[in-house]
Amino acid sequence: MKLLLFDIDGTLIRSDGAGRMALAAALEEIFGTAGPIAEYKMSGKTDARIITDLLTAVGIATADITAKLPLVYERMADKARQIYPERKVAVCPGVPELLRRLQQQPDVALGLLTGNARQTAPLKLAMGNINPAQFHVGAYGSDHLDRNHLPAMAMQRAENLWQRPFSGANTVVIGDTPADILCARAGEATAVAVASGWHATTTLARYNPDHLFENLADTDAVLAALLEE
Ligand SMILES: [Mg+2]
Repeated sequence: MKLLLFDIDGTLIRSDGAGRMALAAALEEIFGTAGPIAEYKMSGKTDARIITDLLTAVGIATADITAKLPLVYERMADKARQIYPERKVAVCPGVPELLRRLQQQPDVALGLLTGNARQTAPLKLAMGNINPAQFHVGAYGSDHLDRNHLPAMAMQRAENLWQRPFSGANTVVIGDTPADILCARAGEATAVAVASGWHATTTLARYNPDHLFENLADTDAVLAALLEE
């Protein structure tokens, strides 16, 4: 059985800043500030990392931030429910067809490996008309500060759910940033990079992914890469 772990932003959907807006609103409500959020580069980072960076930059104590992270995720989800329906969301090219074809594949387990918090990831997918329930396991930005810890968590959850072994040898991480490629390596998994987010193929190529696509539109070629033994 193969475990396919998809990133969300820039890989499945592009959310037109909606996630950033929900985070800013939640942080302002709880801490009275969202720190330097306007210039902060979020791509490839976990929500836990982003929130910690933004608030420590304006002098808030790490212990205070850590204690309030669960509350931040809850409030982000509340804000997302208000903000997301009003925002434009683009599904990345080829994604609906790819997911449809993967549903028909035997011995394929779908999961998420995303910097988004567990509370907001399904809201973002739903915004792009992607059914979150088709991803049976996940590792999220609320699980750890460091994305490189997430593949092992996703594999362990897949083992618990399906009662069979998962390791890097039968796991693929699909994402749009250098951080996705590096975290695939940290989990000794196959790295499939796609330039549908904010990083060009030339940038991604420098990190030596196992497969590199401009986008996921060539369904047959992408399926061959994902299911390669
Ligand atoms: Mg991404």
